[in-house]
Amino acid sequence: MTANWNLLGHNWAVDMLRRHIATGEARHAYLFAGPGGLGRRSLALAFARALNCTNPPAPGDFCGQCRDCRQIAAKQHPDLSIVEPTIKDPDDRNALIPAQYGEIRISQIRDLQRMINLKPYQGKYRVVVGERFNQANTEASNAFLKTLEEPPAQVVLLLTTDNPESLLPTIVSRCEVLRLRPLPIEEVQRELERRGTESHQAELIAHISGGRPGYAFRLAEDQSLLEFRQQRLDDLQRLLSSSRVDKFAYAEKLAKDKDAMRQTFLVWESFWRDVFLHASKADSPLANVDRAEEIDSLAARLNMSAARQRVNEVERALQQMERNVNARLLAEVLLLNWS
Ligand SMILES: [Zn+2]
Repeated sequence: MTANWNLLGHNWAVDMLRRHIATGEARHAYLFAGPGGLGRRSLALAFARALNCTNPPAPGDFCGQCRDCRQIAAKQHPDLSIVEPTIKDPDDRNALIPAQYGEIRISQIRDLQRMINLKPYQGKYRVVVGERFNQANTEASNAFLKTLEEPPAQVVLLLTTDNPESLLPTIVSRCEVLRLRPLPIEEVQRELERRGTESHQAELIAHISGGRPGYAFRLAEDQSLLEFRQQRLDDLQRLLSSSRVDKFAYAEKLAKDKDAMRQTFLVWESFWRDVFLHASKADSPLANVDRAEEIDSLAARLNMSAARQRVNEVERALQQMERNVNARLLAEVLLLNWS
């Protein structure tokens, strides 16, 4: 066990959580905020272990070996509940697989409320991890608020979200909010190299990840993710100079798989952000370092506000996807704007 609960980065957050346990001042609810891939869930699960470890090596730490530690790590502890968004359409073939664009529904909150009113079965605390809670729908959020207002004793609620502003303010105000920041690119690169990724590749992945270690590890483990990105950036280059007919055809194909469409938009968003940063002469590192030439040439042709506009357009399209706006139409509008 390292001083940092075996996590990369977020030392201040670990210090704070460890202190809360050690002094017996754990709050009823915590909100881990920051972009996905940053390690929000890993931090929440480490905290859950520290709360329930039966053999802590020091106050506020966990051993990683006892039954509670092992069961929580495997997400099979009887006092651990995980709530996460599921896809809306029950006929979707992936319906039970959590997706980025699903929602948390009131039935999930009701199930949770029945569960947490029972005493912990085995551990000291019942721990609830509510993942991507910004995707809870209005009914679910309001129901959950009731739980936050009168939390049962021995229950700790851990929520994750991209940013606290996308939750009900009444939920945020009842949580201890931990705003997590990306790590320095070099730190992520060093960790990738330590885990065996070749140095040049590690540098590229660390940049693409924007300092989000969880995202970087996924990229390093799954070559197909990098290939997907490469291909979608190639597509973008081609689409910028292709005909309306081609753009319509691409949009139609893209909209057939919403998860892939969302991933595509994220790749494009990151690319346009680089163009914007380059056009505005910011000295922050590029995410897409392997595409420096294309970024340079686009930044020379577009002014800063046009580049910013592209970033905004992709962001808006991503938000609208979450509201179930017609995917094909979204893709068409986006692509036709770009030439
Ligand atoms: Zn333990």
